[in-house]
Amino acid sequence: MKIAVVGVGYVGLVSGVCLAEVGHEVICVDLDAAKIEQLNQNNVPIYEPGLSAMVATNRAAGNLHFTTNLAQALLGADAAFIAVGTPSREGDGHADLSYVYAAAQNIAEHASGPLVIINKSTVPVGTGDKVQEIAETSRPDMDFHIVSNPEFLREGAAIKDFMEPDRIVIGVESDQAKSIMAEIYAPFEQKGFPTLYVNRRTSELTKYAANSFLALKLAYINEVAELCEVVGADIKGVSKGIGLDPRIGEKFLNAGPGYGGSCFPKDTLALVRTAQDHDRPLRLIEMIVSINEYRKRAMSRKIAQMCEDEVNGKTIAILGLTFKPNTDDMREAPAISIIQGLQDMGANIRAYDPKGMDNAKHHLSNITYCDSALSCVENTDALVIVTEWDEFRDLPFAELKKKMRKPVLVDLRNLYDGKTPKAHGFDYQCVGRPLET
Ligand code: NAD
Repeated sequence: MKIAVVGVGYVGLVSGVCLAEVGHEVICVDLDAAKIEQLNQNNVPIYEPGLSAMVATNRAAGNLHFTTNLAQALLGADAAFIAVGTPSREGDGHADLSYVYAAAQNIAEHASGPLVIINKSTVPVGTGDKVQEIAETSRPDMDFHIVSNPEFLREGAAIKDFMEPDRIVIGVESDQAKSIMAEIYAPFEQKGFPTLYVNRRTSELTKYAANSFLALKLAYINEVAELCEVVGADIKGVSKGIGLDPRIGEKFLNAGPGYGGSCFPKDTLALVRTAQDHDRPLRLIEMIVSINEYRKRAMSRKIAQMCEDEVNGKTIAILGLTFKPNTDDMREAPAISIIQGLQDMGANIRAYDPKGMDNAKHHLSNITYCDSALSCVENTDALVIVTEWDEFRDLPFAELKKKMRKPVLVDLRNLYDGKTPKAHGFDYQCVGRPLET
């Protein structure tokens, strides 16, 4: 199949590369000329494990191309994926669909023949209808089929998630679209990965329902963690104890500083707005959004407590800025709220992240960025682990202590059981365990 992918971000790039990997001819298009130029030199503009090597191999094999020229990308294409951003709209939290609509309009204008247009971006239920209207109004002469095919990959494990999906959800409204989609995903179906064909609106809503459910698990375990801290229970044991029940499942039950990232915050909010607009408010999801916002900000107060309730003029070391490990993505990272909360209380911030510091500079100001955990703690009054990068799992506590003004560790990811830092003389606090354990 000849496939165009419009939007070369985390999702578009990974999807394009993986579709090339399974044998399709893929042309990826982006408005960002600098990004395309980089990719044409095998320089991948995002950090995603394994991605650079796959870009290079598939480009060398001749089945993966990058261009800013949409007309060229669509020449003879069987299908065009839309993988542009759908951020929260400023002001009301609805999904901002302007990029999707613009992409749909551009695709329709430059289509060279009948085309299946596939929405891979996360879009509110009913967006496919609007895309259809845009495409048909722009080119009444042309035969377009609009499909919803949401993406479930996780940053940091994106290639594996795309190549070995738990499921592929496809929302179609015509037999022609269904047969093109079946051909695109045949290499995955042949390997036994489940493909679910539903109608377009069902597919669109499935993505929001999935993300909101995962956010619900996190908000739930974080609230239980708060209770653990005051009743003498340990959240790790509680998570294990409930997660072994297959009806609940072990995943997404790690207590932490609140969920962040480019998807959960915006998608939960967008679902809340969609439901309100249809006069069927999803009060449970509304509550999750508010629990999570509270949680992220509350973490800065927790850190202040460990600094004798006073951080004004003190210096805090932050380890980990990205919303999770193995990505450079800083969108809605809990570190942003936590650091801003500490800065509002007068703290100075030093920070280190293995991959996220360049992106962090667009979200945070007045930070001293450091090149290692060890240099980060220099003359600091507390050390806070915000993101669970592997390199923070075995910190050299003796050396850290020598460099710090005060040996205080706030472990917001429960990387330690407390014994090791305490054995080195650290005051230690994590989440979901009582202070004195
Ligand atoms: P992103 O911001 O990383 O990338 C979007 C890209 O689209 C940018 O490179 C931008 O220049 C390009 N673009 C915008 N308008 C364009 C146009 N008209 N023509 C060509 N290029 C255009 O976005 P992302 O994180 O890849 O997310 C894309 C979509 O996938 C969103 O709807 C998101 O919710 C969804 N999604 C993201 C993830 C994730 O982990 N990032 C996972 C699943 C689903």
